[in-house]
Amino acid sequence: VSPEAAMDVVKESNLSGRGGAGFPTGLKWSFVPSGENSPTPKYLVANGDEMEPGTFKDRLLVEGDPHQLIEGMIISAYAIGASVGFIFLRCEYVLAAERCEKAIAECLENNLLGKDILGSGFDFELYVHGSAGRYICGEETALINSLEGRRANPRAKPPFPQVSGLWGKPTVVNNVETLCNVPHILRNGAEWYQNLGIGADSGTKLYGASGRVKTPGTWELPLGVPVRDLIEKHGGGMQDGYKMKGFLPGGGSTDFLTGEHLDLPMNYESIGKAGSRMGTGQLIIMDDQVCPVGMVLNLIQFFAQESCGWCTPCRDGLPQIQHLLEKLERGEGSWEELETLAEFPRFLGPGNTFCALAPGAVEPLQSALKYFKDDFDNHIKQKCCPYG
Ligand code: SF4
Repeated sequence: VSPEAAMDVVKESNLSGRGGAGFPTGLKWSFVPSGENSPTPKYLVANGDEMEPGTFKDRLLVEGDPHQLIEGMIISAYAIGASVGFIFLRCEYVLAAERCEKAIAECLENNLLGKDILGSGFDFELYVHGSAGRYICGEETALINSLEGRRANPRAKPPFPQVSGLWGKPTVVNNVETLCNVPHILRNGAEWYQNLGIGADSGTKLYGASGRVKTPGTWELPLGVPVRDLIEKHGGGMQDGYKMKGFLPGGGSTDFLTGEHLDLPMNYESIGKAGSRMGTGQLIIMDDQVCPVGMVLNLIQFFAQESCGWCTPCRDGLPQIQHLLEKLERGEGSWEELETLAEFPRFLGPGNTFCALAPGAVEPLQSALKYFKDDFDNHIKQKCCPYG
């Protein structure tokens, strides 16, 4: 199989990025300059930074089967002409890093990595790199800065990393789960992969559910499975005595949805049309005994801490939201402050900040104000948190 043919199979399969954005993988690869005069070396990076609240799917993949990821990286590197790769892991993923190192050593011993792999003439070196521990390292250009030893701020785009990434050379950054799909697509074909999904969706996805369901976890299921199946069938339904009040469909930086959305297919399009994002596909379920103000505050605290500080709306806006939510949660909030709080998502929304951290951070707030406004009001009326 030629590199072009390998890329074509992945394009045809409709594999989309599993990190959250859902961008078509084959198309992303096709932006890498090819041909004899194209810049070298080219790099491939597996993004296993995975700091999204409620999400641990990539950890399971790397710890459970590092060879699958490495095989996916070898094939992907071959397709885009990369000669050097990095597995970029969240710093807490110590076991995952150890298992990757061991698997890489085994591959080197068997000439599955290194020079002239199995006599093919294709060279590929692979290294494990642990993050220094910042959420923003999951953003591909901040990740590239971090790999270069710089402060992990996002870079301006264009140029896109596929053209000018690591040390100014063509670089593809793919999510771990995305890369783990590649060996199976090459082995079984594009049509096989397309047929794994439901309706127009291709392939499978690692979905998950956390919160007070009976059997929280992560499961590989056809892309497009209904939300209800995740909660009721795979999650075992809500624990006795608790009712679902709402859920974040794809990690802590997505908008809340509610019971009226349970029959939606969990795919990028349907969840997007409902006003949220599929994100990582890992549901965080809020039950009727969780205070929405407290839950949003918890998430905002995280994102305020993780802001890289590059742009003012994010650096100064998130701590201000945190301050107002803390007052509200203590029963010391006012109606004027609640109005101010409702204004913030507009100031921190898309287009007002340098990267997607701030717009994502305010998604739970803006949707909680839409669906659970009474809870915010009751904190002011009762001068305390009604949830105790
Ligand atoms: Fe940094 Fe936040 Fe601006 Fe992103 S939005 S560049 S994380 S300050």
